Amino acid sequence: MTDGIPAAPGTEGWFREGPDGFALLAGRCTACGALSFPPRTVPGCPDPGCEGLEQSPEPLSTTGTLWSYTDARYAPPPPYPRPPGTEFEPYALAAVELAAERMIVLGQVAPGVPTGALQVGMTMELTPGTLRSSAGVEERVWNFRPAPNYEAYTGEAQA
Ligand SMILES: [Zn+2]
Repeated sequence: MTDGIPAAPGTEGWFREGPDGFALLAGRCTACGALSFPPRTVPGCPDPGCEGLEQSPEPLSTTGTLWSYTDARYAPPPPYPRPPGTEFEPYALAAVELAAERMIVLGQVAPGVPTGALQVGMTMELTPGTLRSSAGVEERVWNFRPAPNYEAYTGEAQA
């Protein structure tokens, strides 16, 4: 299930893909079990009452509930990266409460899902996403999409 697309810069270690599937990776405090996403880059537990210094990677739930969302209709100003010769395409951002952890994680909604199809409380699933850098290079990120039956939201099922 890996296609060799490298993680977007700054997100290395935030997710895994491969035979075990695509999943976000939190850091779990080895002392108290507290989770952090993204994983902490400095030693220390997110719980100020814990003195744990180490964390281990922990795959997070790949489904959750849409907690909130918004749409981005305007292109961010430079120096925001954009591949040369492309137009800005509006997209939606989802805040998803993960099923088991009850953590809320932000992610771009998969391309093709109109904002009008989103409803707070609906089930969402994690899926690999692809960005193109300003140099036109593909970079792996994560997306959320309605589940099940994602195709019904994009119109692909009727095509
Ligand atoms: Zn801890």
